[in-house]
Amino acid sequence: MTRIWNFSAGPATLPEAALREAQAELLDWHGAGASIMEMSHRGKCFSEVLETAKADLRALLAIPENYRVLFLQGGATLQFSAVPMNLLAGRCADYVVTGAWSKKAWQEAARIEKAVGKVRLAATTEAEGQPADGFCSFPRADEMRLDPKAAYLHVCTNETIHGVEVRDDALLPEGATVVADMSSHILSRPVDIWRYGLIYAGAQKNIGPSGMTLVIVREDLLGQADANVTPRLLDYQAQTENDSMLNTPCTFAIYMAGLVFKWLKKEGGLVRMAEINLEKAARVYETIEESGGFYRNPVEEACRSRMNIPFTLPTPELEAEFVRESESRGFMGLKGHKSVGGIRASLYNAMPREGVEALVEFMREFAARRSKRN
Ligand SMILES: *Cc1c(COP(=O)(O)O)cnc(C)c1O
Repeated sequence: MTRIWNFSAGPATLPEAALREAQAELLDWHGAGASIMEMSHRGKCFSEVLETAKADLRALLAIPENYRVLFLQGGATLQFSAVPMNLLAGRCADYVVTGAWSKKAWQEAARIEKAVGKVRLAATTEAEGQPADGFCSFPRADEMRLDPKAAYLHVCTNETIHGVEVRDDALLPEGATVVADMSSHILSRPVDIWRYGLIYAGAQKNIGPSGMTLVIVREDLLGQADANVTPRLLDYQAQTENDSMLNTPCTFAIYMAGLVFKWLKKEGGLVRMAEINLEKAARVYETIEESGGFYRNPVEEACRSRMNIPFTLPTPELEAEFVRESESRGFMGLKGHKSVGGIRASLYNAMPREGVEALVEFMREFAARRSKRN
C-alpha cells in the first residue's frame, strides 16, 4: 500500500494515525462485538464516543462554558440558511464578501430574506468587471459599512478557493455579533472563541470525513429561530436540547472526528499545530516568491491563507502540464478550483511536513525546467 501526498481542498487528507485506529477497531469497537457504525446512537458506546469527542474539542479550542457545541448535518452550506433563520428574527444582518464561500453565504441569506429579515452587503472585495482580480484581501473593520443594529455580522475567515484568511481574530470589528464560516481552517490555530457569536465548519477539510458539520454557538443566541420558517432540525435551540440528536446523527463521521481530536491532542494541541502550519505554508509561499514570477499568488501578504494556497503559472498549458506531472509523481488534488483555474495546494493539519517538502522540491524543479523553455 502506498499513500500519496494528497493536497485536495476537501474531502481532504486525514491523519494516518486516525485512519489506522479506525481500521483496527472497524469490525469490533472496544470489544463490543460490532462496529461503531452499526450501533444505536442512543446506546452507551456511541454516547461515550460523542461525549469524548465533544470534551476533546472543547479542550482543544478552549471553548468557554457559555458556548454550546453541536455536531449536525447538511454541510457548511446548510448553515448558510440556518444562520439567518435562527438569528435574524426580523432584523438585519451584515455580510462581508471576500471570496466564493462568503458570497454564497450572502446569496443564500438574501434568497430567503423576505421570510426572515433583511440582509445587507457591508463590504466586498470582489473587483468589478474583473472577478479574476478580486478577492485578494480581507477588509479592515473601518472599511466595512456596518449597521450598529445588525443582528450579526457574517464573515468567512478562510476562503478555501481564493486563499484569503483572517490570520488574527483581533482584526474583526468589535461590538458586532460575529458569525464565522471557519470550514477550512478550524483547528489550524487557537481561536479567540469569545470574539464570535457563532462558528460553523463542514468537517471534510480539517476535522474528519464529510457528513458532519460543527456548530459552536453562544448560549444567548439560542431560542430566536422563527418557528414559521425554520425546520426543527435547523433550530439550534432544539438541537442543543437534544444533544445534536433530534434525529439520527452521522455517527461514523462523529467517531472519526473524535479520533482526529485525539490525534491533535497527542500532537501537542493547536498552539503546536499553528507553528507547524505557519512553517509549512511559508515553504510554499517562499517557493512562489523565489520563482521569479513563474508562480504567482495574488493575495495580499497579510491575508495569505496558511491552509489553501492558490497560484498560477505563466500559461494554462503549463498549468495543465504541472497537474499532469504532479499526478504521475504521486501528488493528488493540486488542480485549482474550476471557478478560478490555476493550482491550489491545501495544507491542512494532516498534511505532513515531508509532503510539503516534496511539493516544494517538485515546484522548484518544474520551474527551473519550464522557465528556460518559455
Ligand atoms: C467547503 C466549504 C463550504 C461548503 O461545505 P459543504 O460541507 O460542502 O457544504 C463552505 N464554506 C467553506 C469556507 C468551505 O471551505
